[in-house]
Amino acid sequence: MRKKIAAANWKMNCTLPQAEDLLNKLSTANVHVTEEKISIIAVPYAYLLLAKQILAAKQNIFVAAQNCYTKKSGAYTGEISAEMLQSMQIPYVIIGHSERRDYFNETNSMLADKVNIALEYNIQPIFCCGEALDIREAGTQNSFVEKQLKDSLFHLTNEQIIKVVIAYEPIWAIGTGKTATNEQAQEMHQHIRKVLAGKFGNDIANNISILYGGSVKGANAEEIFAQPDVDGGLVGGASLNAEEFSTIINSL
Ligand code: PEP
Repeated sequence: MRKKIAAANWKMNCTLPQAEDLLNKLSTANVHVTEEKISIIAVPYAYLLLAKQILAAKQNIFVAAQNCYTKKSGAYTGEISAEMLQSMQIPYVIIGHSERRDYFNETNSMLADKVNIALEYNIQPIFCCGEALDIREAGTQNSFVEKQLKDSLFHLTNEQIIKVVIAYEPIWAIGTGKTATNEQAQEMHQHIRKVLAGKFGNDIANNISILYGGSVKGANAEEIFAQPDVDGGLVGGASLNAEEFSTIINSL
């Protein structure tokens, strides 16, 4: 059975006191999580250990990093390695967020390397894919996303791909307040699952969690998550408010 996941992406937000406050609120929030319905909080690197410490008693709420570098270690000033994340017992890492692709020129092949190194260190990648507005308007979103998946994930073995969480995030819906319709989300998630099934088989594709990201809020989470191929969400803006994010978790 694939897991339902409410994942938070704090991006580059929160000072230390703000992060502490938000984590404390999340640690006491009335959220229903189980082994099958989990939450993942991706915080800035500087707060990884703080987040682990504050959420330590919360079962089924996990801490994630927002990125890692392709190399094991060395002279890569400002980067963080999968080995470092593993040494802090961080179980998940976001790979290939559209902001990383756009602002930091991360390519599909670089992302394949990042997925590889994360898996090598036993960290589950939350692999982001999704098209920009011009691609959606041209109607070529299915082949665009398919290529992202093929280029960055198709070299994996069955044992490896099963550890990957996919997040479909149409760029035109990220931080814009414009959510994909339930139909648009379901259609793309079904397509992604079909593409995965074509390569790895139905059993594996049916066990991979595919999250939707793009202006998910407390008010729209339930209907999006109710789509048959949507297994939860990756949430930016709304994850910075503990009450709002708790509603999203409870919508799984
Ligand atoms: C994101 O950053 O992954 C995201 C989906 O952001 P938002 O929820 O703010 O659109």
